[in-house]
Amino acid sequence: MLSYQHYFHAGNHADVLKHLCWYLTIDYLNKKDKPYTLIDTHAGEGVYPANDTRNTERLTGIAKLASSDTNSALLNDYLALVSKYSDAQQFPGSPAIAHALMRTTDKLHVIERHPSAYKALQYWAKSLKTDSIHCHNRDAFEGVVGLCPPKVKRGAIIIDPPYEQVDEYTWVANAVSHIIRRWPQAHLLIWYPLLGARAAAKAKACNTMTERLIHIAQGNQLEWCNSELCYTSSANEQGMYGSGVLCLNPSWVYADTMRNTLPNVVDYLGSGATWSVTE
Ligand code: SAM
Repeated sequence: MLSYQHYFHAGNHADVLKHLCWYLTIDYLNKKDKPYTLIDTHAGEGVYPANDTRNTERLTGIAKLASSDTNSALLNDYLALVSKYSDAQQFPGSPAIAHALMRTTDKLHVIERHPSAYKALQYWAKSLKTDSIHCHNRDAFEGVVGLCPPKVKRGAIIIDPPYEQVDEYTWVANAVSHIIRRWPQAHLLIWYPLLGARAAAKAKACNTMTERLIHIAQGNQLEWCNSELCYTSSANEQGMYGSGVLCLNPSWVYADTMRNTLPNVVDYLGSGATWSVTE
C-alpha cells in the first residue's frame, strides 16, 4: 500500500516534533570534527512547497511557530532554518534538515519507496550537486538493515513510517532489533503517532511497539528518551492528536534540551497542547 503522500502533512505538529529531535541529534554530532553517517529510512521528497493549498495541516504546526523568538536555542535555530527555506517558497523535510547541518565529510543515505516521492527526492538531491547524499529506491525496513553498520560508525538513523498498515509497528520493532545488533552505537529516532478512538487497533499496536522498543533498549543496556507532543487532548480527537519520538542512545544533552524546548512549542500551538519527556 503506497497511498500516503507527505505533502498533505508537511509542517504539521508531528513534523515539528520529529524535526526538532532530528536537528538536535545532528547538531550534537557536529560538536566533534569526526565524520558521521546519517540514514533517513522514510525520506519523503526532501523539500515541500511552503504554501501548498492542499496542505492545511501546517496550520497545526509550523504556521503557528514561524517568526517566533523563543527561550529555546534549538527551536530558534530550527525556525531560522525553516525561514531560510521559506525564502525559496520551500519547507525542509528531514533530508533537507540533514543536508543543511552536515559537513563535507559526512554522508546521508535517504531511502524512499514511493515512485513519485522518490523522483522528487532524487531531483532535490541532484540539484545540490553533492556526492554526500545517496538515494535508495527500496523498502525502508530491509534497506536500513542492509546499510548497517556503515563504514563510519558515528551517526544517527531516523525511522519515520506513515504507519498506513498496522503491521508497520511490528516491522519497525523488528528492524530496530536488527539495527541495534549491527550498529549499537547509532543514535536512533523512531517517530510514532498518538491516535484517538477511531484508530484503536493501531493505537494498541503502537503501544506494543513502544514497549518493545524500550525493552530492546534495556536488554542492550542502551539509554532511551521518549518525547511526546499533543496538539489537542485525546478526548477531542478521533484521529491523530499528537505524536512521539523515541530516541535510543540519546546524547547527554538530548533530554534536557527537549525539556527546555517543548514548553516553548506548546506556548505557540495553543491551549490544548501538552508535552512530556520521559527517560
Ligand atoms: N521523513 C520525512 C520528513 O520528515 O520530511 C517524511 C516521511 S513520510 C512521513 C513517510 C514516507 O515513507 C512517505 O514518503 C512514503 O512514501 C514512504 N514509505 C512508506 N512505506 C515505505 C517503505 N516500506 N519503504 C520506504 N519508504 C516508504
